[in-house]
Amino acid sequence: MKFHFPRSPRPESIAESDWNNWTWQLRHSLKTQDDFALHFALNEDEKAAFVGGKELFNVRTTPYYASLAQQGPDGQSLRQILMPHRFEIEEGDQQMLDPLGERVNKAAPRLIHRYSDRVLFLITDICSVYCRFCTRKHFTGQEQAFIRNEEYEQALAYIRSHTGLREVILSGGDPLTVSDKQLDRVLTDLRAIEHVEIIRIGSRMPVVCPMRITGDLVQIMKKHKPVFLMSHFNHPAELTAEAVEALERLVDNGIPVMNQMVLLNGINNHPALVQALNRRLLYLRVKPYYMFQCDPSQGTDHLRTSVEDSLEIQKELWGHLSGLAMPNLSLDIPNGGGKTYLVPNFEVGQEGRTRHYVGWDGVKAEYISPAPEKIRKPDASLYEAEWAHLKSCKA
Ligand code: SF4
Repeated sequence: MKFHFPRSPRPESIAESDWNNWTWQLRHSLKTQDDFALHFALNEDEKAAFVGGKELFNVRTTPYYASLAQQGPDGQSLRQILMPHRFEIEEGDQQMLDPLGERVNKAAPRLIHRYSDRVLFLITDICSVYCRFCTRKHFTGQEQAFIRNEEYEQALAYIRSHTGLREVILSGGDPLTVSDKQLDRVLTDLRAIEHVEIIRIGSRMPVVCPMRITGDLVQIMKKHKPVFLMSHFNHPAELTAEAVEALERLVDNGIPVMNQMVLLNGINNHPALVQALNRRLLYLRVKPYYMFQCDPSQGTDHLRTSVEDSLEIQKELWGHLSGLAMPNLSLDIPNGGGKTYLVPNFEVGQEGRTRHYVGWDGVKAEYISPAPEKIRKPDASLYEAEWAHLKSCKA
């Protein structure tokens, strides 16, 4: 293999069969200050977060992910993802409980309908690691677990009755913390709805508990194809041998995997790290999809980098990193304004139909558009009804 992907440092006292069992990992999660103190020498900032008196976003990690955060400079980076810090409970520049405006776009219990063709279905609020940068703190980590039956039926009824919907994105919480049986039921019910074309599963489990990606799980996903897995690797140190095995099991079985990363202050906001992560992912047949600006969720000020810094990283990568390996830098406009792409602007002027450009390495050129009267539209009558129906399906 071209890159080296080390195995996680399993403590000798833990049997390999336990370590590689996802339910063992969840049952032995670190949840309290005492649990964390057994594995980490907590510093004063971390202790202050645990005993701060102000309500702290739930804390939890798998022993597997904690083991990655315990060694070397990369471990220090991962530690900031799972470990609370006193900055979380202090005042910041921008602190929003619901930066994506999801509560406004709630169409049914656990169902968010913001874009015409797709809905977000929050089937559980539980995660195996509570990332300190989480954007959904208004819902995640309240340990309400799998959706109640009555709410589940209401959500399904909504999806059934909105025939313009084409995609359902299972999210949470982490949908892969539920059992195979529960997931199979959800996928079976969604697949039975004729207008649902694509099902996406957004999960951090390949990152924080890759042993969850069992052969049985993959067969369930395959049975209900097309099911896409949206992974959430943020740092090359998260790509262990176990994570690689999980990703290969998915793609070898025809499950497309796409990765969404978040730029995090002092953790991965460096072009060398971003290219290292995304080249490795691409090599593993995972398409780097988004590189998000961190949302101004409560307690995340110290984890957010500036838009200028993100643009600078992207600009450095432009022209050096293959388009296949390049994720789209994107910012979610607060209050549910939707996504906006952030792209370097290479256009330096315009006169009439002529636009002037300077490319990433200084090449200057112009692009002359055809005159407006020469622009023709094809006959799209076969597709216009489908398009109108799709656009009309908004909550
Ligand atoms: S896994 Fe996702 S939903 Fe869960 S805490 Fe992390 S970012 Fe939030």
